[in-house]
Amino acid sequence: MKEPVVRVGILSEEQIRFVLGESYRIDGQPVSGEQSLVWKSGKILWNGELHDSLLFETDDKDATFTIRDVVIGVNFHWERKENQRFQGNLSFIVEGESVTAINIVAIEDYLSSVIASEMSSSASLALLEAHAVISRSWLLAQIERGKSPQAEAHKASFVETEDRHIRWYDREDHQNFDVCADDHCQRYQGVSRAFENIDRVKQAIAATRGQVLQYEGEICDARFSKCCGGIVEEFENCWEDVPVPYLVRLRDAERGEELPDLTQEQEAVAWIAARPEAFCNTRDPKILSQALNSYDQETQDFYRWKLRYSTQELSDLIQRRSGIDFGEILSLTPLKRGASGRIVELKITGSKKTKIIGKELEIRKILSESHLYSSAFYVEKEQDAFVLHGAGWGHGVGLCQIGAAVMGEKGYVYDSILLHYYPGAMIKKLY
Ligand SMILES: [Zn+2]
Ligand SMILES: [Zn+2]
Repeated sequence: MKEPVVRVGILSEEQIRFVLGESYRIDGQPVSGEQSLVWKSGKILWNGELHDSLLFETDDKDATFTIRDVVIGVNFHWERKENQRFQGNLSFIVEGESVTAINIVAIEDYLSSVIASEMSSSASLALLEAHAVISRSWLLAQIERGKSPQAEAHKASFVETEDRHIRWYDREDHQNFDVCADDHCQRYQGVSRAFENIDRVKQAIAATRGQVLQYEGEICDARFSKCCGGIVEEFENCWEDVPVPYLVRLRDAERGEELPDLTQEQEAVAWIAARPEAFCNTRDPKILSQALNSYDQETQDFYRWKLRYSTQELSDLIQRRSGIDFGEILSLTPLKRGASGRIVELKITGSKKTKIIGKELEIRKILSESHLYSSAFYVEKEQDAFVLHGAGWGHGVGLCQIGAAVMGEKGYVYDSILLHYYPGAMIKKLY
């Protein structure tokens, strides 16, 4: 297999300004310098003519083009426009009433940019290599899916009855390109930034070139989250009810540590109340800064955390976040927990209504202004307050980023790290 290319959707606008480097061609004719195009009557107006689509190509691996005024940080307080520079080919297509710019780039180049922007410059080489394999697996799976003749059947992700509200969230695929350049897929800024860690990232990418995680010949769905809380969660407790053989329950620790059954309420409470030995049980700032790129703004307490709401606060919060008027909240009762202690179904009992809520992300959305760290918690009821004692950060399925950073620091190599978190999978070099 030859190194594939990835089609990355950069932006969609009515009008796009861009600058082509020296070696670009369109239909065999050289073209360079400042360009501008605009959507017109369902076509692209460029250079005085209307086109269905455009493709600017180059054979020069070092050639770049610049897109002007790309909006970054959409809806964040730091939203701004900047010029961004990319390698590879540039195509434009019509989508609705805008023109979409697509960067067609070799996947190893794409990965260098994505990983350099995601990972801290202090990350160990093993951690960078493990991430390279995961990102490459994810990306190749996206490309494969886009090529498959029949679109994937639409998955039900919602169960709503009078007394149950069970929902999970899976990312939707793009129609006209493989991935977008936002956080929805993976943040990609081409070669716009001079990343501090770019040489080490390139070294990690070269060392794992073409390698993906496979299970029975298929590329793995290599999920990951910030911190499992000591035990890794199973796929079906967070998404569709279909077990995935390599996204399973396991103790995030050296071999030989016991693996309690956290689906049992008493064991879950005891587990969360303790601080059991685990790879991700660390407060070492050097390691945390490797796995969390905005570490300075984040809390350090996510292996075990605590949150207190007055009854009034909690009642208001739940009504606002769920759109359901429960009245005064009387109790929060876990009905079903996953392998890591994450609550899959939570019964909310109020003075006016009682309803069962799930799965983990829906629980985290409803019980917090943004997202609760995780749904692995137990509730301590005080006179006029609810105290949530919790464990972990994120869904907890697959690779635990803090745990993997610790493993890297302890001298584990990237393939041992990957096979710890995705048991039964294998690493295969595709090109
Ligand atoms: Zn996307
Ligand atoms: Zn962990």
